[in-house]
Amino acid sequence: MNEFELIRHYFTRPVSHTRLGVGDDAAIFSPRQGYELHVSVDMLVAGRHFFPDVDPYKLGHKTLAVNLSDMAAMGATPKWVLLAAALPTVNQDWVADFARGFFALADRYQVDVIGGDTTRGPLTLSVTIIGETPHGCALRRDQAQVGDDIWLSGTVGCAAIGLTYRQQQLSLTPAEQHHALMALEQPEPRVALGQALLSCAHAAIDVSDGLLADLGHILQRSGGLGATLWWDQIPVNPLWQHASWFKPEWALAGGDDYELCFTAPATARQAIVDIAHRVGVPVSRIGQVEAAHTGTVVLDTHGQPMPIERTGFDHFATS
Ligand code: ADP
Ligand code: MG
Repeated sequence: MNEFELIRHYFTRPVSHTRLGVGDDAAIFSPRQGYELHVSVDMLVAGRHFFPDVDPYKLGHKTLAVNLSDMAAMGATPKWVLLAAALPTVNQDWVADFARGFFALADRYQVDVIGGDTTRGPLTLSVTIIGETPHGCALRRDQAQVGDDIWLSGTVGCAAIGLTYRQQQLSLTPAEQHHALMALEQPEPRVALGQALLSCAHAAIDVSDGLLADLGHILQRSGGLGATLWWDQIPVNPLWQHASWFKPEWALAGGDDYELCFTAPATARQAIVDIAHRVGVPVSRIGQVEAAHTGTVVLDTHGQPMPIERTGFDHFATS
């Protein structure tokens, strides 16, 4: 099977809101009137972002999910994606499973795959995603205000536990394995929540590098603000919340959770609870934005600041 047969067979599907999709030198599409476009790109490298032997269906899912999550964090509706893939060899079963996982999620979110690039090389996957929001309405990182509540969707720490388990540094029961590996390998992007928050949140980010690090981006981009978080309000899966082996660091600084962290005025509390109920995603109010102090303070159950050694994941960190 040559490159063009591979693209035609595995990566070409009918499109629903695109004038010209895969097959020409470029795709053609138009945004809806009154909307503006969001575009972002993400890269997943084997051995760095995923284990090379991960189930290809799950890898297909995650490759798209992490990009959908970026759109969710902006409150954008994802519409179009391009997929660039470097593959060491063409194993048709592997490619077929990867494509099934990728398109299952694309279909669920009605995202058109409109192009890409395919080459031989060390296993690397890169998706460019394009979404839209009504003009001037996007959720950005730089709009948090002093006094805002800080909210978090879902739970944090599951993916870090999945990673630690995969690294054979932790043993888990079958039920624990299921939750931890689902979070690590098949995260569910919070697209509907992000869109619904357009009406009431001030700032948002998706938690990909660790809660404290990602909240730190909001605080820094919003003019250098501070925050207080309450440890007992940070949502952790009850499966291991009280386990002796559970490390708070997994929840506070573990990467790959793809939950939304957002800030909103106190007047929006009821609206946010209603939205969470409507979209079926739990949310927790975990803290408050404050005028500048030294970054984020996490208070333990006695109101004492917890020692924080690590805030998140940095690919270029030297330690
Ligand atoms: P060109 O030589 O002009 O760069 P390519 O041969 O790379 O074109 O690609 C042919 C067509 O297939 C283009 O429309 C491109 O966007 C699309 N394409 C290539 N690889 C992929 C892929 N992995 N997924 C989806 N579309 C792809
Ligand atoms: Mg090309």
